Amino acid sequence: MELNGKKIIYADNAATTCVTPAVLDAMLPFYKEVFGNPSSLYSIGNAAKKPLEDARATVAKCLGALPTEIFFTSGGSESDNWAIKGAAHKMAKQGKTHIITSKFEHHAVLHTCAALEKEGFTVTYLDVHENGIVVPEEVEAAITDKTALVTIMYANNEIGTIQPIAEIGAICKKHGVLFHTDAVQAVGNVHIDVKAQNIDMLSLSGHKLHAPKGVGALYVRRGLVLPNLIDGGAQERNRRAGTENVAGIVGLAKAMEIAHEIMDEKNEKLRRMQDKLITEILKIDRSRLNGDREKRLPGNISFCFEGIEGESLLLMLDLKGVCASSGSACTSGSLDPSHVLLAIGLKHEVAHGSLRLSFSDVNEESDVDYIIEILPQIVERLRAMSPLWDAIIHGRA
Ligand SMILES: *Cc1c(COP(=O)(O)O)cnc(C)c1O
Repeated sequence: MELNGKKIIYADNAATTCVTPAVLDAMLPFYKEVFGNPSSLYSIGNAAKKPLEDARATVAKCLGALPTEIFFTSGGSESDNWAIKGAAHKMAKQGKTHIITSKFEHHAVLHTCAALEKEGFTVTYLDVHENGIVVPEEVEAAITDKTALVTIMYANNEIGTIQPIAEIGAICKKHGVLFHTDAVQAVGNVHIDVKAQNIDMLSLSGHKLHAPKGVGALYVRRGLVLPNLIDGGAQERNRRAGTENVAGIVGLAKAMEIAHEIMDEKNEKLRRMQDKLITEILKIDRSRLNGDREKRLPGNISFCFEGIEGESLLLMLDLKGVCASSGSACTSGSLDPSHVLLAIGLKHEVAHGSLRLSFSDVNEESDVDYIIEILPQIVERLRAMSPLWDAIIHGRA
């Protein structure tokens, strides 16, 4: 990739991804000749209706769902809010006011749970342990006769660990508890089957898989009727009003279709890149990989380096043309260490030295080679300037 004539290695695909040419091409007609409102009766409106429903069928197929179970939204945050608040308010009418989640969810889930706590709901935040994985037995042990909903993310956005979703789904089914999963990082990267995995609701977002920002979907199992999040017109089967983002939705479906076609091949390449990167980077003194080494997304790798600040590392990488992140994009700009890294038990000072590198099929294997070449030097330079490092190696910290 190039920006102002300079070569850029984009290694922050967990924050957002580029829209790929095939996705953009699929979208363009809906900004041009097929701009009509799908609810209109004349032909240019009607011409947008079929592509919209085709897109719904494609998204459904990729998840093992029915088209009528897919509701298009503005993205992952909206889907999470709708699923969790909707399920909570619905179940509260039956006296069920307890929610189970984990300590390292995305803020779209954590802050939604916090908002519900203010309304009087109680929330259990499960530990995710040093490996960054929720233990199904601990989900089961937390269920009470008041439990309305379990919401556990499919794959973590900061450290890439994949959760035992089918096991948790089976437990929820057994106890008659609703199960939602924020699968924003997983969709397009792992094979999902909402029926086999007993998932009642699943959130996904376009911009994490090469579709544009501002489009996503919520899968809601047939028979489960959530309260409306947006009242108004009859779009999305009367449940989510507002004229559809047709171009975005078509782009989302195209991106999911492509992701499913190339998934196994892409993952093989990404796993090769990940293995090489982890092996080489862990040769750096006092470095660590965050989260389980095996149960992870092949394109999401998080390290910590003692004695340095993640922010300085990012600036130095940026000077060398590498875009990466420290923690998630949503928490950068704040000086607090990432809640995810604290949840896996890291000390504040270690969590501060974090680096997340996330890759997609658009990356080349040579991107990893370049990072392996420059990263150890950068860490060494930063440590040479760091009073903290001096204290660490002399055993004073
Ligand atoms: C990016 C992300 C979201 C938010 O999705 P938006 O479409 O940006 O609202 C939610 N959950 C996870 C795990 C994410 O990575």
